[in-house]
Order: sequence, then structure tokens, then C-alpha cells
Amino acid sequence: MIRKRAPFSIAGIDIMPGERRTVEIAAAKLYNRADLFMNVQVIHGKKDGPVLFISGAVHGDEINGVEIIRRLLGLKLVNSLKGTLIAVPVVNTFGFINKSRYLPDGRDLNRYFPGSAKGSLTSQIASIFMEEIVSRSTHGIDFHTGANFRNNLPQIRACLSDTQVSQMAMAFNAPVVIDSPLREGSLRQAALDLGIPMLMYEGGQPMRYDQLPIQIGTRGIISVMRYLGMLPALKRTPRRSKSILVKDSIWARADSSGIFLPRVNLGDIVAKKEVLGIVTDVFGENGSQVLSPAKGIVIGQLENPLVHKGDATSHVAVIKDIGDAEIALDSFQKEYDIESNYQPFEDDLLK
Ligand SMILES: [Zn+2]
Repeated sequence: MIRKRAPFSIAGIDIMPGERRTVEIAAAKLYNRADLFMNVQVIHGKKDGPVLFISGAVHGDEINGVEIIRRLLGLKLVNSLKGTLIAVPVVNTFGFINKSRYLPDGRDLNRYFPGSAKGSLTSQIASIFMEEIVSRSTHGIDFHTGANFRNNLPQIRACLSDTQVSQMAMAFNAPVVIDSPLREGSLRQAALDLGIPMLMYEGGQPMRYDQLPIQIGTRGIISVMRYLGMLPALKRTPRRSKSILVKDSIWARADSSGIFLPRVNLGDIVAKKEVLGIVTDVFGENGSQVLSPAKGIVIGQLENPLVHKGDATSHVAVIKDIGDAEIALDSFQKEYDIESNYQPFEDDLLK
């Protein structure tokens, strides 16, 4: 006789094998008596397997992840997964309502993990997320975009010295993977402290739905789920470009205050000292150039033209072998050429 899988317990609710259910987790009580909830959807497969959490809008204005998770949940294939999927499209409910990165107390949630039940409001929410989501998972992926009007080329940030993390990162197959040190108080750090390998994905800009980062993000989760054995492996491995591995990245900054006019696009390969943009005042005078600090790929760019001297305008991933990167970026572009080749996403994701 096959032993039936145990229910999955979250927020005091038992979810049965084969069940898909949305639960509300009480996250905070606000000063106007309003309760703040974190909504979570759990798909608890009939068969054993990893427990993967996917989370969006830890920064409430970074909403591409909300759409990435919605698209994933709309796919029929997730209903027959092995293991358990915990989907949290909006972690920072307050920031999402207010189109803001922050919590009501003005804090940045991603600096307060693992949090504390006795700490600030932000720290309490971090602690609830750790207890209800992260500590019940075996793996995780957290979805972000650029901050402060910055647009990011789709990229995974991960601690590649951890073998499990590194394999998940390569399975995700974003155009760029950055070996990124852990930041104190970040969700990545707190998850890794519990021994839970997790990736952070960055793509697009705040308060926008950017099709390319959304498509790459949705496909990335499916690839990781296939790699973890939560979804069946494809019979034939699709021919895809490998992610470009990056060890180091540098921000270029404005040399004067004024209007920033970019001269390159996200994904462009640039030489050291190449002009990334110019800064001019409103009369077209007192200009300066923003030069690339290294040879590499433009992986982040400021979309808001108004800059003060010293503001970061362009993020360059340092690349030694430009030739390989150019070929990889070219084929990524072709694979994801959504303008000429866009199909309903389910077909697109399953092909
Ligand atoms: Zn973020």
C-alpha cells in the first residue's frame, strides 16, 4: 500500500495532497484598525518532492514578479507537480497598494530579514515570512526589478559558491547570472542561513509590466522546477544559449548635474571608456559624458533623465570574453523576440 503524503500546514491550515488553496496570512495590524494580509497560494502535489517558494513585490513597486507568478499559476502543468509550490505574488502588501518600495514605517523589507516578532513592523513582517514561507520550503526564488527608475536586463543574482544555488541559477537560464555577495538583512542571506538555496531574479523596472523580463522569469521558474524534478524533464533538451556568468559589475555615475541622455541600450556590449550617455543642462550647455568604467554588458540603466552629479546612471557587467557574450546575447534576443514571434504564453512556455 502506498502511504499517502502528509498534508502541508501553513498559517494553521492543512492543505491536503492534490489540493490547491489560497490562504491569508495575517501580516500586521495598522493604526486605523485595518488588518494587513499576505495572500499565499499553495499547490500541494500528490507526490513527494521539493517545496519551492516563489515570491514577488518584496519591494512593493517592483511588480513584474506579480505577473510572472500569475502566469505560472495559469499553466495547467503546475497542477500535476511533484512536491509543493508556495506562491506569494505580493509579499509587501502595503507597498503594493501604495506603489512604494517600503513598508508603512518607511523601512526596506529586504534589509530586515530574518526579522523578529518583537521588532519594528517591517521586522515583524520579515519574521512572519521566514516562519510561514521560507522555513517550510526547501528552495526559493524571489522576483525583483531595478529600483529608483532603473531598468535591469533580466539577470539572476546568486551566491555561486553554493553548488545547489549555482545549479539552480544555471537552470533558470536568464541571459546574465551575477555572482553576487550576500547583503546583510536580505532574504537571500536569511534563506541561506537556514540552508535553503535561493535565487534572486531582477528584470525590468518598477511599476511596469515588461514583457521580456516577464517571459524570461516565467520560463525560468519552469526550468528550475524541471531541474528540481517537480515537473517532468523535457524529452528533448531545447537548444538554448547558456547564461553569461558575471563575477563583477560597476555602476557608471554622472559627472555633472543635468539631464541624462543615454547613448546605449540594455544588453549592449560596450568597450572601456565608451560613451554610455551624456549629461547636459536644460540649455544644452555644461555637458559631460558618462563613460563605461569597464569592458562589458549594460545590465542596468536609469530611465529617469534627471540626475545630480554622482548619481548612478548605467550598470556595466564586467566581461572578459566579449565575443562569447555577444553570441549569447544575440541568440537570447532571437529566442525571446516577442515582437515578431509572440504567442499565447502557454504555448510559448511549453514549446
Ligand atoms: Zn527589489
